[in-house]
Amino acid sequence: MKIGIVGCAGRMGRMLSSEVLSTEGCTLSGGTERPGSDAVGRDLGELLGRGTLGAMVGCDAKTLIAGAEAVIDFTSPTATVFHAQLAAETRTVLVVGTTGLSPDDEAALRTAATRTAIVYAPNFSVGVNLLLALTEQAAAILGDDYDIEIVEMHHRMKVDAPSGTALGLGRAAARGRRVAIEDVWCKARDGHTGARPKGEIGFATLRGGDVVGDHTVMFAAEGERIELGHKASSRAVFAKGAVRAARWAQGQPPGLYSMRDVLGL
Ligand code: NAD
Repeated sequence: MKIGIVGCAGRMGRMLSSEVLSTEGCTLSGGTERPGSDAVGRDLGELLGRGTLGAMVGCDAKTLIAGAEAVIDFTSPTATVFHAQLAAETRTVLVVGTTGLSPDDEAALRTAATRTAIVYAPNFSVGVNLLLALTEQAAAILGDDYDIEIVEMHHRMKVDAPSGTALGLGRAAARGRRVAIEDVWCKARDGHTGARPKGEIGFATLRGGDVVGDHTVMFAAEGERIELGHKASSRAVFAKGAVRAARWAQGQPPGLYSMRDVLGL
């Protein structure tokens, strides 16, 4: 399977390119970067520290997407929407890991997914996707006598907050309680907030160092507290999941899929 990586010089882009190179049955068809990036024009293999590959990092996403069977995109929301439109035109499988998408960006993904298979997940690790399923189940069983708080920590370079995974966990908890997350979420607290409203789902964001991604979902009641958590210690888990998603999506009808579909959870 020919897989291209947009944003191939990013933290995840490098991981993804290496993962494709190491996966049997997959070939790395090329990589792009944003115009002006130092990586443009460099040999992709050399960028990864894996010797010369003969494929140069380009900035022409249209050609990369047209020539690949699947493209993996961990870039920025604006770039992802653009890539989704291109993937729809050529009916190329698209795997999207970019977080911080607005409702309009997500609507653009849904439109593109009427023409090609797109897998979109805030977190491609198997462990986190199990945590999502467990969170939904626990929220359904425990009910709103248990206050739900979601705490996440990431490295100092992360630009969006709360993390896409934390919001995904909030959505899973809200689904379990049969409410819409937008009606109950509190994404940050500051100053005189008053007492906690019943049914609220709260988020707390920590940033620092090189933390790859820690998430804890707390269910706090009078007299007890349940905590479900996940800690990622290597970005390789996301890259492995994304390549698995690309292989799964090949041959699927057009649609917007999640990692839960890929894993059959
Ligand atoms: P990063 O800043 O290191 O990498 C992003 C790369 O995209 C950069 O190299 C940038 O130049 C490139 N880029 C931006 N616009 C582009 C364009 N138009 N064309 C081509 N390349 C372009 O960031 P990162 O840490 O690799 O994270 C990237 C995204 O992936 C973030 O949204 C992050 O939250 C998300 N992420 C998701 C998961 C997951 O499992 N879903 C895991 C880790 C990170």
